[in-house]
Amino acid sequence: MASEMLKRSVLVLLTAAVVAACSSGQSPTAPTTITAAPPPIVVPLPTTVPGVLTLVLPIDAADLATTAFGIAPYGYHGADHAEDGHPGWDVEYRLGGIVRAAAAGMVQSVFPDPSVAGRSTVQIEHVIGTHFYRTVYTNLASVTPEIIPAAAVRAGQSLGVAGTVSQTVGTTPITYAMTHFQLDDFEYYREIPNPNAVTPEPFLAADAKLFFDRIFSGAVFSTELVEPYASNQRDLRFPASRTWTRVSGDGPAGIRFTRVAARNPNYDYAILAESGTAIETGTVTLALTARPFPSIDLVSATGRRLGVYDIVSDQMRLVLANPGASRPVDVNAASTYRTPR
Ligand SMILES: [Zn+2]
Repeated sequence: MASEMLKRSVLVLLTAAVVAACSSGQSPTAPTTITAAPPPIVVPLPTTVPGVLTLVLPIDAADLATTAFGIAPYGYHGADHAEDGHPGWDVEYRLGGIVRAAAAGMVQSVFPDPSVAGRSTVQIEHVIGTHFYRTVYTNLASVTPEIIPAAAVRAGQSLGVAGTVSQTVGTTPITYAMTHFQLDDFEYYREIPNPNAVTPEPFLAADAKLFFDRIFSGAVFSTELVEPYASNQRDLRFPASRTWTRVSGDGPAGIRFTRVAARNPNYDYAILAESGTAIETGTVTLALTARPFPSIDLVSATGRRLGVYDIVSDQMRLVLANPGASRPVDVNAASTYRTPR
């Protein structure tokens, strides 16, 4: 919800312990064959009950912003949702940006946001045949006057102004606006907090999906090394590892990132040989605010590799300097990695 971004004050992750292991100061191994891109990832609908809601995004293109994160995905494990996985998308707005209804429906409720004083939450119900859905929009600084219980709303209608969040990243104060956008599907239930919440991703209209993909390609969030998707699994077990395998370039053949515990935002890493054997291990330091390419430092017992990266779903571009060398300025020389869903 709104407070989770407040609490996510670890946009800069500082690692303490250095994990020693066998290491290699050698240059990366030779490139492997470039493989074709896999087909697009298709997120299945949560139920087969007839009546499928179609969504647009709760934001207009003119209101986009990426001061902080862009979009924080469904299912990620951090802040308020370290254990149960985030039940929606946090959408970032420009300051003063308008939160909009994601589908036609009827206002179910407008109430004070339970997590941030002075903010409101709007809930809209959507009935498709006999299939009941609800969309939820939190952290509104103000609510549009027509948005009252039982009012009919159309897709794209203004619900109110996105509330701001202020935090300090390192020594730099930043202020951004956001809403927590959630889709509840009442044909779906799991015994966890927000038991009806499903990812909005498979419900997006075609144009909205293209718009979403554009936003998500610029999203940077602290769990993306192991939870890189717009729709991640809410029941992730820890320690949580994800292996990225090189498909082009001359970087290491593979790299595995591990988050040890749900409430510990730090990562360990292992650089992998072609065989899958770990040839260097250590800890990871990220600076997610270093846009457009977040900084990643791999710290082993024998040195520190400075790098930059970007991740979009199952693809990562990563460029690492040799130990002792300066940080690359962009990902033009990056190796490309993929990870299985
Ligand atoms: Zn949220």
